[in-house]
Amino acid sequence: MHIHIFWDSLSPPGLQVPVTRMIAGILGVPATVSENHVRIMGYVNERKQIDAQVLLDSIHTYKHRHSIEEPILLVVHQDLFRDGSRFVFGLARQTAGTAVVSTSRLGNEFYGREANDDDLIDRITKEGAHEVGHLLGLGHCDNPECIMFRPDTLDELDRKKKMFCEACREQLEAWLTPD
Ligand SMILES: [Zn+2]
Ligand SMILES: [Zn+2]
Repeated sequence: MHIHIFWDSLSPPGLQVPVTRMIAGILGVPATVSENHVRIMGYVNERKQIDAQVLLDSIHTYKHRHSIEEPILLVVHQDLFRDGSRFVFGLARQTAGTAVVSTSRLGNEFYGREANDDDLIDRITKEGAHEVGHLLGLGHCDNPECIMFRPDTLDELDRKKKMFCEACREQLEAWLTPD
């Protein structure tokens, strides 16, 4: 098992190495990061947002074309939405092994606060590990400190710790070490 992280050119530069290292550490799975070659699709002009489902389709096409079996997490800067939601921080499709995270609402500056790279690294890491958690078979968790808790706000995202609760950890380990 190995996770590919694709860092789009518009995503915050210089953060990909610490984010990748931390995601790998949280999941206990090796991860590598490279520049993104997936076509950014699904932009909806009226919303100034990307339809996350369409972007997941594009990642799927890329995976297929390049015969990549392992999960791919794409980090973009454009804001994402999905049917029925004003926005999403990220989205994963377990059956395809594809996930996307947007950094657009993860920076302090989006909320009128002073920018801070450490905050941003933390949040991209938590969101990324959450979406890859879905790809590795995990659902949402009720524990507000667990990576698999689904945050609706930045405060809820910040309240999470950079780790899985015991129950999710056990599930993950069972999935990663099939007997
Ligand atoms: Zn989720
Ligand atoms: Zn949990």
